[in-house]
Amino acid sequence: MILDFKEIPEANKGTGIQDTFELFTRDFLSLLGYRIVQGPDRGADGKKDLIVDEVIKGITSEYTIRWLVSCKHYAHSGRAVKDSDEINIGDRLRQHGCNGFMGVYSTLAATSLSGLLQGQENYIIFDHEKIESYLLGNLEGHRIACRYFPLSFKRYQLENPTPAKIFDEEAELCCDYCGKNLLLESVHGNYVSLRKEGLEKNGIEPKCEDIYFACSGMCDNVLQKKFQAKGLYDIGWVSIDELCIPTIWLMKLMAFINEIQKKNDMSDTAFEKTKKLFINTFPYVARHLTQKETMRIRNLLMFDIM
Ligand SMILES: [Zn+2]
Repeated sequence: MILDFKEIPEANKGTGIQDTFELFTRDFLSLLGYRIVQGPDRGADGKKDLIVDEVIKGITSEYTIRWLVSCKHYAHSGRAVKDSDEINIGDRLRQHGCNGFMGVYSTLAATSLSGLLQGQENYIIFDHEKIESYLLGNLEGHRIACRYFPLSFKRYQLENPTPAKIFDEEAELCCDYCGKNLLLESVHGNYVSLRKEGLEKNGIEPKCEDIYFACSGMCDNVLQKKFQAKGLYDIGWVSIDELCIPTIWLMKLMAFINEIQKKNDMSDTAFEKTKKLFINTFPYVARHLTQKETMRIRNLLMFDIM
């Protein structure tokens, strides 16, 4: 497990104070798209189940499942939720006018409970593994994880950095052959610098004429041949994945600046493409803008100060 559910305090027994795990459950279910009908903020009657609606839309009709949500936070003892922890499920459903039973558990459901639930028309269990995979799966989930699991989520983020939110649109660096975005985690590619052939023989240092972005393998081979036909050959290639390592990114940026310093060392095309390369990989080596910084940038852009 990546998220440590023990970061959520144990239930407050009999104090009437809202339990953090129930507040977490409310936020988690809202994230998934359930409508909260009855939240955990009720009187101290001991019964603190949540009620949520799920609207299921068909082509010509829709219907609602009203779920009775049972929150069980046993992460501190680590024990699974057994059948004896969930008594009279049928009665509870009837009492609250619900037609589905949902368990949100910070541990696992024991086999005895699964057997008990088989008889229910609608049931679903969100155990700790399922909850974690939903939370880590998208940016909204990250916000909730950050609030309820500050320590373990921070550890996770250090090892799994996500591109910083800097631009309004997602950064793209597309393969010049097939158009795939090379910045996607599933796509791997390189940028390749090109020069004209045969200039060194005449004592001229070859300048960078062009740059292409390509997926590794087939796309790269096709583009290599295409540019060779125009008399342009590789000076070198760097993997985009490697460029997104902050140290390497900075080294390559400095090399780029040094090249410009040597006068006329790059064609306009190569210069523009290199700028594009650094702009679009920047979110991968930078941090998120804070809200205050976003506002500041908007103001600066508005008055054309930048
Ligand atoms: Zn490609």
